[in-house]
Amino acid sequence: MSEVTYRPVRGPRTPDNEEPALERARDFRPVDKGYTKEMAIAEANRCLNCKKPSCVEGCPVNINIPKFIEAIRAEEFGRGLDIIREDSMLPAICGRVCPQENQCEGKCVLGRGKNPQPIAIGQLERFLGDQPELASKPAMKPANGKKVAIIGSGPSGITCAGELARNGFDVTVFEAFFTGGGVLVYGIPEFRLPKAVVKREIDGLQELGVKFEFNSVMGRLADAEELLGEKGFDAIYVATGAGLPKFLNIPGENLPNVFFANEYLTRVNLMKANQFPEYDTPTKHGKNVVVFGGGNVAMDAVRTAKRLGAERAIIAYRRTEAEMPARKAELHHAKQEGVEVMPLVAPLEFLEGEGGNVCGVRVQRCELGEPDDSGRRRPVPIEGAVEVIPCDVAISAIGTSANPFAKLIGGMELNKWGYIVADEDGRTTNPRIWAGGDIVTGAATVILAMGAGKKAAASITAAFAEE
Ligand SMILES: Cc1cc2nc3c(=O)[nH]c(=O)nc-3n(C[C@H](O)[C@H](O)[C@H](O)COP(=O)(O)OP(=O)(O)OC[C@H]3O[C@@H](n4cnc5c(N)ncnc54)[C@H](O)[C@@H]3O)c2cc1C
Ligand code: SF4
Repeated sequence: MSEVTYRPVRGPRTPDNEEPALERARDFRPVDKGYTKEMAIAEANRCLNCKKPSCVEGCPVNINIPKFIEAIRAEEFGRGLDIIREDSMLPAICGRVCPQENQCEGKCVLGRGKNPQPIAIGQLERFLGDQPELASKPAMKPANGKKVAIIGSGPSGITCAGELARNGFDVTVFEAFFTGGGVLVYGIPEFRLPKAVVKREIDGLQELGVKFEFNSVMGRLADAEELLGEKGFDAIYVATGAGLPKFLNIPGENLPNVFFANEYLTRVNLMKANQFPEYDTPTKHGKNVVVFGGGNVAMDAVRTAKRLGAERAIIAYRRTEAEMPARKAELHHAKQEGVEVMPLVAPLEFLEGEGGNVCGVRVQRCELGEPDDSGRRRPVPIEGAVEVIPCDVAISAIGTSANPFAKLIGGMELNKWGYIVADEDGRTTNPRIWAGGDIVTGAATVILAMGAGKKAAASITAAFAEE
């Protein structure tokens, strides 16, 4: 049937293909197995192929969603992937971790009304992204003799690297860790984003000729001046992220078994602390774990604690579920897996128990007051409502700030919070340095970091075309 005569199938959204909650919460297997071909086609057949597709407006990089969905209907999966890749280089990753409910799916016309059933755009994107062998080989421009140093191998750095390599640049990515991917490997756990999916992207870049220098902390090993001087680079893209944890600044924060979420997650995800002593890094397998925060990081930490054997795993949040910034799907999955949500509590003090370890946390009960600057209702302490939550592990996931190494890399202006000052195209105050991702915007999302890398690559390419 030609698309001209296409008639969408009316019906409910195709359910996700998930592992049973209580079984999957025992190990790190992927929670969602992804759509089969039949499921993907069935879901694609629900799309109305809107003339003015509001889903595209909701996508931060404006992927032509109805067009790739049409390719799925036609079972032309390679073509569908090529359509996505015009705007997003990381569909297997974004399909898994983007907050679709606030973006494309949040705008889909089928998501309106009393019984919202938006097209499962993320699942369809992932379905195509998981078949990278079907994509056309990217066109490579001839080498232009220009060298670019990229600092940081998170989604922003690797997107910029791929675009520049295709545009003929000689690209080297410097990464502080021993492996590439940034938060995609050290933050987001295996059960949400398998490491193999990220490795595939890094391997693909290496095949394009991108060089990776791991264990290279820039700012220590070399700063911007050296890179642009004796090291012979023509330009730099800084994508060092926002990985510095914010402190709760309450007594007992330094007690053993009180962790920052990024440290806890890095231990398990990257250093494989869940497989100690097979791997060198240990971590405490708490039985009673309390996590402070309501974002994706908090959800990842609490669900990881569950998988390390926690009998009671609590998300303690100072507002209510309605105000939580985490993806709805993560909160839903966490609850399915037995995570307890304790709304309207703020930590006051971590308590010391036997052997000097944390044994509990004193919390203040709150109620919602007037909206604050973020538009969300402010938590207001209820006088005298103080109690103790017993715990043997406590994790703080209340946010992060700029990576302090941006300052040591030097050569460009930072704002008062340590983020790099850059324009829409990633241009900093130094004409040879571009920057993007979380180190410019503050902690944001994978798709925004990726979009910034793409814009900066276009700007760098244009700058050298002018020379
Ligand atoms: C636990 C967790 C869960 C998240 N979940 C989601 C989600 O579900 N969906 C979503 O869209 N977003 C999510 N995010 C946010 C998202 O991951 C980030 O917005 C995104 O990774 C930012 O990309 P980036 O490339 O700017 O930086 P990063 O991913 O932080 O990468 C920066 C890289 O730079 C390296 N680096 C830093 N300093 C140096 C230096 N001096 N020299 C060399 N290398 C350096 C770091 O080691 C790191 O590899 C999550 C974040 C966390 C922490
Ligand atoms: S808004 Fe929804 S129904 Fe319309 S084209 Fe986009 S995905 Fe399809």
